Amino acid sequence: MLVVSSCLAGLKVRYNGSHSLHSVIERLVIEGKAITICPELLSGFSTPREPAEIIGGNGQDVLNGKARVVEKSGRDVTDMYLDGAEKTLELVKQYKATAVILKEYSPSCGSTKIYNGDFDGSLISGDGVTSALLRKHGIEVYSERNMNQLLESMTP
Ligand code: SF4
Repeated sequence: MLVVSSCLAGLKVRYNGSHSLHSVIERLVIEGKAITICPELLSGFSTPREPAEIIGGNGQDVLNGKARVVEKSGRDVTDMYLDGAEKTLELVKQYKATAVILKEYSPSCGSTKIYNGDFDGSLISGDGVTSALLRKHGIEVYSERNMNQLLESMTP
């Protein structure tokens, strides 16, 4: 079983009320090979919500207390992002998922690049808070941009 970002499966859970539908991910869910999660909704956010970015580092730094997650208007939402990451980890364990495919660039789900904290669309290398926590617990994290490697290895 795989765990995938809800927005990649077409659910309108992004901060602005949109989705990031990817047809391959949608098919995995329809075929019963993947279940959807949204760390931000798990932590109590609703849709739509304010955009947030990691200030001062990446998800790994947030886990280490060296960076924070902050909404565009300035509210510190670090604790909610950590809570969403913990709840996602519990679900991944519960479903005995072998890997996850999460939406690139998100402060929760990004796995190779995230926004830089200036809310100007610039990217930096690094992962989001949920991806960082999952990796810390030995779970393989892929995105919609590099999932082919994973999917090819699953093909019988
Ligand atoms: Fe939810 Fe992750 Fe998609 Fe953001 S990127 S809407 S946290 S599933």
